[in-house]
Amino acid sequence: MPKIEFVDVTNRDGEQTSRVALSKLQKTVINWLLDQMGVYQSEMGFPLSEHESNYINANCALTKPDCCDDGPLIKRLQLSGWSRALASDVKIAQDRTAVEHFNLSISTSEQMLQWKFRGKFSREDIIRMMVDAVVAAKDGGAITAGINAEDASRTDIDFLIDFARAGKDAGADRFRYCDTLGYDDPESISERIATIAREVQMPIELHCHNDLGLAVANSCAGAIACCRAGQDAYINTTVNGIGERAGNADLVSCVLALRYSSKWRDENWCTDAIDLSKAWKLATYTSTAFGVPIPINQPGVGDNAFAHESGIHADGALKDRHNYELYDYEQLGRGELLYTSTGRVITVGGHSGASGLEYVYNQLDLGFRDEDHKRQVLKLAQLANLHNQQPLTKEELWFIYHCPEITAQLLTVTV
Ligand SMILES: [Zn+2]
Repeated sequence: MPKIEFVDVTNRDGEQTSRVALSKLQKTVINWLLDQMGVYQSEMGFPLSEHESNYINANCALTKPDCCDDGPLIKRLQLSGWSRALASDVKIAQDRTAVEHFNLSISTSEQMLQWKFRGKFSREDIIRMMVDAVVAAKDGGAITAGINAEDASRTDIDFLIDFARAGKDAGADRFRYCDTLGYDDPESISERIATIAREVQMPIELHCHNDLGLAVANSCAGAIACCRAGQDAYINTTVNGIGERAGNADLVSCVLALRYSSKWRDENWCTDAIDLSKAWKLATYTSTAFGVPIPINQPGVGDNAFAHESGIHADGALKDRHNYELYDYEQLGRGELLYTSTGRVITVGGHSGASGLEYVYNQLDLGFRDEDHKRQVLKLAQLANLHNQQPLTKEELWFIYHCPEITAQLLTVTV
């Protein structure tokens, strides 16, 4: 039976968004947490960008058995790079990085062919460039290559089918249907995806934006239409829905919709690999890293997702939680009390010293082997703080302690 997996694009589409940024260490911790949540692939960035090279190579190393003290830190998550569908870009990316999975993107709509490319490329040119990029990626050692049709929702369906077929024949592994402007609705995307899946017979990714508030609904509806047509589907998500303009499809919301909505819950389309109990940690870490608060009414992870005040609701929830809660907060990894000290606090940052550092690490039950080890971690923590511009979190402190060489590589941003 076909299934729905998740390709998270927080570290690419999310991070390219206006007014937000992540350090390379923060992007790495997000990859690590996505792996813990059972996400299939992280589109981790741009292998063509020089300042991403060390980050991409460091993260590829995290999938290898000898990266840290006990086996690979990233166990299941595939790490992919976004690239323009140009053979020349792919070759440079492969020279610079060890990335083994590519998502190759090119515009397909008449709007963009005429008004972005200014009529420079015909439809045949678009297909030829994409095919050349797929062949270059595979010849250069890529394990998988997906083909992304940018602005697919405004593209003639027959051309999309030709594009996907040509990609499949050239060795592409998935076709990404990009609703780049958030133009689709659940009915239109279901019809179009079912047609492409039936005609081309290849797995499809749903990449939906939220300009009409439909990103989650469209992603789920399109993915299910794909599965019903007999093909595996992959939903592109971001953590907390952050992304260009009004954002992308929120990861947690998509999983909740597939697992708990009226009809879909019984149809069981969602991969069993997703461990929702990691959702709270992933959402709160990513919110802190971006410096963008989670809205209080965010599904599953917002402050009010399980809050009740009005008399009838509070009374009902206290009598039986399922009077007013569709799913349980424990399932999202919530329920622990959070303690914030109103007394002394020691943080780790660019001006920290050895004893403060040792105190904070002792709180995490991590002791130093010797003075050299302490000095090494202190230096890395200081530099990491300069990149993050905020006190280090316990996930970051843990990572620096266990993977010092990889941390040093992440903190070396070259041009
Ligand atoms: Zn996008």
